[in-house]
Amino acid sequence: MGLRKFGNTDINVTPIGLGTWVIGGWMWGGADENDAVDAVTVSIEQGVNLIDTAPIYGFGKSEQIVGKAIKKFDREKIVIATKCGLEWDANARIRRNTSRQRVVKEFNESLKRLGTDYIDIYQVHWPDTNVPISETMDVFRELLEDKKIRAIGVSNFNVSQMKEVMDVAPLHSLQPPFNIFEQEAGEELLPFCNENNIAALTYSTLCRGLLTGKFTKSSVFQKGDLRKMDPKFKGKKFQIYLNCIEQLKKLAQNRNASIGQLAIEWAMSQPGVTCVLVGARNSKQAEQNINALKQKCFSKEDFKKIEQILYETVNQPLGAEFMAPPE
Ligand code: NAP
Repeated sequence: MGLRKFGNTDINVTPIGLGTWVIGGWMWGGADENDAVDAVTVSIEQGVNLIDTAPIYGFGKSEQIVGKAIKKFDREKIVIATKCGLEWDANARIRRNTSRQRVVKEFNESLKRLGTDYIDIYQVHWPDTNVPISETMDVFRELLEDKKIRAIGVSNFNVSQMKEVMDVAPLHSLQPPFNIFEQEAGEELLPFCNENNIAALTYSTLCRGLLTGKFTKSSVFQKGDLRKMDPKFKGKKFQIYLNCIEQLKKLAQNRNASIGQLAIEWAMSQPGVTCVLVGARNSKQAEQNINALKQKCFSKEDFKKIEQILYETVNQPLGAEFMAPPE
């Protein structure tokens, strides 16, 4: 699998990374731990080198599972990306907190769960307007200088928030939502990353499973599944997106590929994108997604056709804003 340089760091990553939000179970209607370990194991065995996780994913569970799965591999060959800055209480109520105290606590807990003594890519999960960015970045800079992290990243930041970071610390990566249905990052964020040699680690490549083409209008989501509150999966909007999916499926079938493959290859090919994160709850899903890398199926003309299909079917696209945790 070809590697891509991660911004101006000495890290090289595969163009696809495993997203491990789902394996924490929380917000995804639960997850099976053995399946989850297999998903991580198979991904690494098949050549994926980047694993993205966060303390908030299952309140530590996702990091623990990643830690368990990576034990059998050479740590130096794996690029671990994790995050900080979301706090939770006993009732699973979440708030943003990027204070010095919180970041230091989260960092040490992440090391323990992941069974490692350094993190490759350490990211602020969501901007926290209640804490000066210089306070958060002071801790990140110290971690970088002490070689406890190899890259400083932010997630869900806009351009002006990234510039604030760049005034006080080196910024190596951004993690924004980006997929065929949620293309907003392509307007300002990805060009900014490209111009400033900031790596882009894009998330929700399959639009939370919608772009696998497996859902129908009678699909029912379990209690505690974030798709129950995702406006794309509700009422008339759901039908509009499903109509679009049918067209995208035909486009993929004409190239003997799946719609998931189309979604992954499209995202990997967009200017400014370094690595696309794709979630998988078991080895079967992981393998199917990694297959997207084995051969190139689509041309620039096919990608233009996607825009035409979107124009004809989804005239008022919805973003990923519903995921933002309270300030
Ligand atoms: P995604 O990659 O768009 O979709 C992943 C989900 O689709 C899986 O959890 C699985 O859910 C389903 N799926 C995946 N492969 C499949 C296959 N081959 N066949 C059928 N179903 C399949 O969603 P995402 O998890 O939101 O994004 C990926 C990663 O990005 C996350 O895991 C996380 O690491 C990161 N992320 C970061 C942020 C942030 O704020 N920084 C936010 C979101 C995500 P089901 O089996 O339940 O359908």
